[in-house]
Amino acid sequence: MILTQCAVCATELGLSLGKKCGRCSTRYCGPECQVQHWKEGGHDKLCKPIKKAGGAEQYNANKKYAEAVAVAAEACAEDTKGQTCFICTQALHWKTKEGLVRGCACRGTAGFAHVSCLAEQVKILFAEVEESNLDCEVKNERWHRWHTCSLCEQQYHGVVSCALGWACWKTYVGRPETDHIRSNAMNLLGNGLADVKHHEDTLTVREADLAMMRRIGASEESILVVQGNLASTYTALGRLEEASRIVRDVYSGYLKLAGEEHEKTLIEANNYASSLRQLKRFEEAKSLMLKMMPVARRVFGGNHEVMLMMRQNYALALYRDDGATLDDFREAVNTFEDLARIARRVLGGSHPLTTEIEQTLQKVRAALRARETP
Ligand SMILES: [Zn+2]
Ligand SMILES: [Zn+2]
Ligand SMILES: [Zn+2]
Ligand SMILES: [Zn+2]
Repeated sequence: MILTQCAVCATELGLSLGKKCGRCSTRYCGPECQVQHWKEGGHDKLCKPIKKAGGAEQYNANKKYAEAVAVAAEACAEDTKGQTCFICTQALHWKTKEGLVRGCACRGTAGFAHVSCLAEQVKILFAEVEESNLDCEVKNERWHRWHTCSLCEQQYHGVVSCALGWACWKTYVGRPETDHIRSNAMNLLGNGLADVKHHEDTLTVREADLAMMRRIGASEESILVVQGNLASTYTALGRLEEASRIVRDVYSGYLKLAGEEHEKTLIEANNYASSLRQLKRFEEAKSLMLKMMPVARRVFGGNHEVMLMMRQNYALALYRDDGATLDDFREAVNTFEDLARIARRVLGGSHPLTTEIEQTLQKVRAALRARETP
């Protein structure tokens, strides 16, 4: 699934092209590379261990996992010096000898752990709910442990998020495609890779996820979620045209599925307007926001986060447009002043959206001043 290249020459094979080793499923572009890999690439010795590990995909996941754990422990070495794991109480893991990590909001002596211990813990917790058929909510709560710390309730970030992404994928890679846990694991791996800005790898995972969802005939809503993730990856890669096309589809998908007043529809309308703005298609961005802002106001009221984001989007499109008039600049400044007041009151001064709005307010004010000075 995640392996989409020939093991010898790295030709891109997508999800179905090429040829597989009949025993271990290692992928090749064709018989020549396969023969070469066996004779000179060491596959004659590796084939058996790969098959024994559960096939090429599992073998790859295990290997990537070990690498990601080493990277995470190394990056956290300074912070974790002299500490012990809150799960196994040791400094070095008894079996893997890996070092400690911490990548959440835990402070002081709290929250140090081995990635293996974190992964083992959530694996067991989740297996429990799967066996006993507990309801969805409990299942979701336990699944959260793959990405959220149980002590501080904040999401893991950076290298720790990435290592847990591989841990999760390695745990569930053997699940059949129709088991939605497989897609969840792929999603988590994609998020982890995005957290360390490995956007090309994220793209491979997102595309594989989307292709799988289509193949198994997943619900339209699940497909829209994966498409939304894919669009973020394209944006991160600077492939803005592709991102915008997908966001447009996601927006119109939710519009059809849930109607214009649904929260998801409004969020995606806003995302689509952002993508248009990044492409400098300001008129389209503005007219979409003018159409959807009254709907959002009716549904959520003026203080809701979505409403703030939409107004922000509109004001940005207003003053960044090359044809912006002095009045447009003034309207943008007024809007950002108003947004800053609301955000401070409703979300608080340390909320990322508040910070973002306040920083932009400074920029728009400066832009207005520059414009007013002859
Ligand atoms: Zn090849
Ligand atoms: Zn093989
Ligand atoms: Zn431990
Ligand atoms: Zn924590």
